[in-house]
Amino acid sequence: MPSNTHTVMVTGASGYIAGWIVKYLLEAGHTVHATVRDPNKAKSVDHLKRIADAAPGTLKLFKADLLDAQSFDAPMQGCDILMHTASPFVLEGFTDANEALVRPAVEGTRNVLNAANRCDTLKRVVLTSSVASVYGDATDMKGKSAFTEADWNTTSSVDHNPYQYSKVAAEREAWKIHDGQEGSAESRWDLVTINPGMVYGPSLTNASNSASIGTLLDMGRGKLKTGVPALEYGMVDVREVAQAHLLGAFKPEAEGRYILVSQSVSMLDIAGILRKQFGKQYPFPMMKVPKPVVWAVGPFMGPVTRKFISRNVGYPLRFENSRSKTLGVNYRPAADTLKDHFDQVLEDGLVRRR
Ligand code: NAP
Repeated sequence: MPSNTHTVMVTGASGYIAGWIVKYLLEAGHTVHATVRDPNKAKSVDHLKRIADAAPGTLKLFKADLLDAQSFDAPMQGCDILMHTASPFVLEGFTDANEALVRPAVEGTRNVLNAANRCDTLKRVVLTSSVASVYGDATDMKGKSAFTEADWNTTSSVDHNPYQYSKVAAEREAWKIHDGQEGSAESRWDLVTINPGMVYGPSLTNASNSASIGTLLDMGRGKLKTGVPALEYGMVDVREVAQAHLLGAFKPEAEGRYILVSQSVSMLDIAGILRKQFGKQYPFPMMKVPKPVVWAVGPFMGPVTRKFISRNVGYPLRFENSRSKTLGVNYRPAADTLKDHFDQVLEDGLVRRR
């Protein structure tokens, strides 16, 4: 193996973000040990196989489940880098938030990192965390000009913002296992976390249930035609998120947490950018729904609670991204990200071309 190539394990390789990570790793000539729950499910892995066929790197698929503690030992054999992306990112369609989100995220991180402790070739772990681990509600920004890597989400719980809670609990677990490693300094692995905001940009797979993809589909299919709440996101392109994983893995000086956000945008900003690029014939939302109306009807329309609405609708969100720029991330404009994403959605026939 040439000295500048690595053997990298990527968990949850079938996912939206992981697809781009695997692509960049293979294109750079690395060997990828990709874990998925079902390597025989064509929809989850065929795009990865196609990318591997055209790239100098080597793809090896392994079966692993976050809740199966032993399943990560085999794929980790011989790896010097681990990228742990697997974690459920769903905001609706479940009744038990602990079982659907928190347990797979936290127990999964514990299982993966305990396997890392049993693997003596491993040098660095890059964990896909989230800004959800930095803050829980927009009102947490009170008294600050922006969230930074020094901030931790202390306001989410299994009952309030369970996805956010799953991410902060998983990241805390990762740091706890990292800090508790035994053995000589040479035998221990470093931990770098990538904490992206809301990720948009073209998907290499149509199999993902990622909530990122769902929002753009809802906009294109007219589900939000009557209007959107005044909600802001810290937004970032999926390709920058993937690049940040490679920078975090291969730059020796990378350390700690990196917020990945290019800029803050509201849902109405996103709709406006899409309308400007794709035209008024698409049913993108045109107006903001007043907060009292969102408060009254929101819980009947989607997976939001009144507590979420009162703490998030109408509040600004700002993130400091200078650490990620120092790492080497170059952010593209939000308009380019959204154009490329909606082009992909149209090309794949997920929204009817008008
Ligand atoms: P995604 O497409 O749904 O990917 C999640 C992956 O997790 C899937 O490949 C899924 O694999 C795997 N997974 C879920 N439960 C699992 C289990 N029990 N065992 C093994 N694998 C399991 O979502 P994504 O948006 O790419 O998210 C990837 C990571 O980025 C997550 O950690 C998410 O929290 C984080 N993140 C996402 C965003 C965003 O806006 N998208 C923002 C910040 C952070 P299967 O194919 O087997 O279902």
